[in-house]
Amino acid sequence: MKLDRSYFKEKHTGKKPESQYTICCNQLVDRDILNKNNKDDYELMEGYCEASLQQHTAIDHIKIECCEECGRLIKYVSVLTQTRDNWK
Ligand SMILES: [Zn+2]
Repeated sequence: MKLDRSYFKEKHTGKKPESQYTICCNQLVDRDILNKNNKDDYELMEGYCEASLQQHTAIDHIKIECCEECGRLIKYVSVLTQTRDNWK
């Protein structure tokens, strides 16, 4: 028999988990992921972007892509400065 997290979740809550993944963005439901709707999480996301901008001068700006439905962080997109300097 298989004892995984969903087994124990079902055992404790008494209900079967519908899905481990969100329907809107296909992220693991239990995954502790940053969410733009959470003020603290958003601060962390901004902090990540600020640190990246400071470390990599080639990055012009960073786009934070979140799920439209639930606000979960999908990915960061770094947009490079369009100069020849990047190709040295
Ligand atoms: Zn979502």
